[in-house]
Order: sequence, then structure tokens, then C-alpha cells
Amino acid sequence: MGVRECPFCGKSISDVFRDCPHCHETLPERRIPATAPEARAAGSDRPTTFRRGLLYMLTVAFIYYLLSPYSFLKLPVPFAPFLTRYLLPTFFLAGMAFALFGIYQNVRE
Ligand SMILES: [Zn+2]
Repeated sequence: MGVRECPFCGKSISDVFRDCPHCHETLPERRIPATAPEARAAGSDRPTTFRRGLLYMLTVAFIYYLLSPYSFLKLPVPFAPFLTRYLLPTFFLAGMAFALFGIYQNVRE
């Protein structure tokens, strides 16, 4: 139960009244937005899945480039070749799968 303002006299009244107790005017009904927050959230989820997948792929590609010998940045600490040989390509493919899943979700609806 909330408090709203009467559009006719400007006094604060309770939500439950259909008529203003002060000026006795009939209050207009409150309109609920056509798109509920849940529906909007579900609708906006699809493009973000695709974009998130692209962001993961770009991030992994940039890290891969930084760890490569062609990078402008020479890392002073050694790292395991397992990282560039298996781990980063796996994450890149996971990001690609995420993006493809976003496309699939977009096409299905
Ligand atoms: Zn009123």
C-alpha cells in the first residue's frame, strides 16, 4: 500500500482510494507499463549473449597476442607453454560457442 498524489488537489492520499477523500474527484487508474521488467530482461538477454561471446574471444585473442613472441610487450616472467598451447585456444572456442549460442537464441525467437 503506497501513497500517491491527487492530480486534482495535490494532496497525498492512499493508493487504495478510487476517489480522492479531500476533493471527491475520481482518480485516473494507474497504468502498468506494457512491457514488464521481466519481459524486457528476457528480451535484452539475447543480444548480450552474442556480444559477451565476442568480448571473450577478443580478450583471449589479445592475451594470446601479448604472450606471443611477436608482441611489443616482452614479459619478464616465464609462463608455461600449456597456457598458449591449450588453455587460451580452449577459452577462445568457449567464447565462440557463447557467441554462436547467442546467434542461435536470436534466430530461434
Ligand atoms: Zn484530491
